[in-house]
Amino acid sequence: MATTKSAIITGASSGIGQATAKELASRGFAVLLAARREERLVELKNEIEQAGGQAAYKVTDVTSAEDMKALGEAAIEQFGQIDVMVNNAGLMPLSYMNKLKIEEWDRMVDVNIKGVLYGIAAVLPHMEEREEGHIINISSVAGHDITPGSAVYSGTKFAVRAITEGLRQELSPAMNIRATIVSPGAVATELSDTITDQDILDGFASGSPMKFLEAEDIARAIGYAVEQPDYVDVNEILIRPRQQK
Ligand code: NDP
Repeated sequence: MATTKSAIITGASSGIGQATAKELASRGFAVLLAARREERLVELKNEIEQAGGQAAYKVTDVTSAEDMKALGEAAIEQFGQIDVMVNNAGLMPLSYMNKLKIEEWDRMVDVNIKGVLYGIAAVLPHMEEREEGHIINISSVAGHDITPGSAVYSGTKFAVRAITEGLRQELSPAMNIRATIVSPGAVATELSDTITDQDILDGFASGSPMKFLEAEDIARAIGYAVEQPDYVDVNEILIRPRQQK
């Protein structure tokens, strides 16, 4: 009997991570849901199971290397293997640099960059041992384009792209391990809730209306990347709302 493939998804309590967990579960993956808000993870696990999927959860802070190591171990314990790691957890408290929101800069570096690195560390030895696996890291259009207010957030998302591409180049061609960057434009999620800079919020309020992407649009892109034949590595998916410049 074929073993069920498994995926870890960080930031699964909301938005893109939540939609990705459902998408991968519907494609037959056993999913391990990770985030800090336990009640949301329980709710999602139940929803996936009611739809006939297989899910488990682990309360995890991606800024803790120990938590992330334990997350990888939990996936192996629960499902026997890790086929896909989606490093999705992130936050985006945009601000102008002269506001000196140093605490927010620190949090973005810790979650958006270090969280991804710890996620790679949690699964890479296992994937190299199996000679198989797929690491998907969520960057952003902001990892390509810088706008006023996005300096630090963009810095973290440029870093995610650099780290993922560097990893891809280092992976042994003899092994079936892949690395993919997913770079979304504006998606309707809770991501902007962490913005505290009133000037940024005022700018958002006066912006022209645009139909944002849904989290499910990104989840489908991730589903596409993971289901390619093993000689295909989707390096990056850049996906914007049609109306976004
Ligand atoms: P949400 O705010 O809806 O989700 C963010 C997720 O990250 C939550 O599940 C949250 O869970 C988790 N998270 C935050 N901090 C931590 C932490 N320390 N440890 C564990 N989990 C954490 O935003 P999105 O779904 O939009 O964002 C997902 C990713 O997509 C992010 O990396 C974001 O930068 C990226 N992105 C989003 C875009 C958008 O327009 N929405 C555009 C481009 C990229 P909890 O609080 O429970 O821990």
